[in-house]
Amino acid sequence: MTPSDERKEKAPGVCSNCGELLTVRITEDGTIQPISPHNICSCENPSLRVIEEDDVFDDAEEDFH
Ligand SMILES: [Zn+2]
Repeated sequence: MTPSDERKEKAPGVCSNCGELLTVRITEDGTIQPISPHNICSCENPSLRVIEEDDVFDDAEEDFH
């Protein structure tokens, strides 16, 4: 019963340009945007992408074995 057109998902993101970590939101059409314009790196053209769990735990995974 929630209005789906207002629904946005927060996700951990990273600028693949400079590696800056930031929180992003994913809009309905799949666009990745920073939560806040102040919460973004200083790249002229930030290349934002969502961090997948595999990305985060890729290196640490060895510790679990
Ligand atoms: Zn950047």
